[in-house]
Amino acid sequence: MTQKYYDYHMHSLVSMDSSMDMSDACAQAVRTGMSGICFTEHQDYFSDHAAKNSRGHVEIDMDFYDRQIRLVQAQYGNRLSICQGVELGLQDCNVEEVRAFLSQHSFDYIIGSVHTIERKEISTGAFYEGKTKDAAYAAYFRAVYDMIMTQPIFHCLGHLDLVRRYKGYGDNAIDYNKFSILIDEILRALIERGKGLEVNTAGIRYGVGSMHPDMPILKRYRQLGGEIITCGSDAHRRDHVAMDIKEAYALLKECGFTYVSRFVGGKEEKIPLK
Ligand SMILES: [Zn+2]
Ligand SMILES: [Zn+2]
Repeated sequence: MTQKYYDYHMHSLVSMDSSMDMSDACAQAVRTGMSGICFTEHQDYFSDHAAKNSRGHVEIDMDFYDRQIRLVQAQYGNRLSICQGVELGLQDCNVEEVRAFLSQHSFDYIIGSVHTIERKEISTGAFYEGKTKDAAYAAYFRAVYDMIMTQPIFHCLGHLDLVRRYKGYGDNAIDYNKFSILIDEILRALIERGKGLEVNTAGIRYGVGSMHPDMPILKRYRQLGGEIITCGSDAHRRDHVAMDIKEAYALLKECGFTYVSRFVGGKEEKIPLK
């Protein structure tokens, strides 16, 4: 049996920061040898993003999303498994909004991500202002931990160590030993709650020097008994779909994992790593 590959993180034109056509994404996935993909469109509350609405949110038009998914499933369903997911931007001020949203919509797969802390966006650099690098990184990891404790409504934690991506300090290197207590708390909290971790390959494209999270965290997650792990490109354009997914699978094998996960209808499926 040959290895089956799944890209479980990407944004189409349903998301505010992408104009990728879903059928283009599917075509690229088929071309690059993926067995399946999952769209994980952005839903962020109290965001600083330019595309926020009058309530300060970045929200999915769910009717449009449903229609788009049905179209590509009809077009590509015999060649590609196409799942409908969401990437939720989670922070302590949006518990009620997220609960209300999830009570009305169901998804194959939910990524829980920290994009904004104390209403300051990481991607715009606002979060880094007035903080030393160590203070910013520690505050980020604490926010991730708090999010897992207060809103364990996701399947996998998105791009752990995202704080490195935007290089708030020019140099984004991170000494994992310095943050090992915080990181261990995060990994243990995930494992105890039956939540998974994502390997987000976009770190390579952004020049971070590794995927998110970096290998020491992946190895530690495994060592602590973690075994739910998905891989995603975080593509926002067609040529990034499936990028470095095969490399991510190889990395996971190197870290001691024997399976990679995907989710369909909210249920985990384990894909053997060959
Ligand atoms: Zn994200
Ligand atoms: Zn994303």
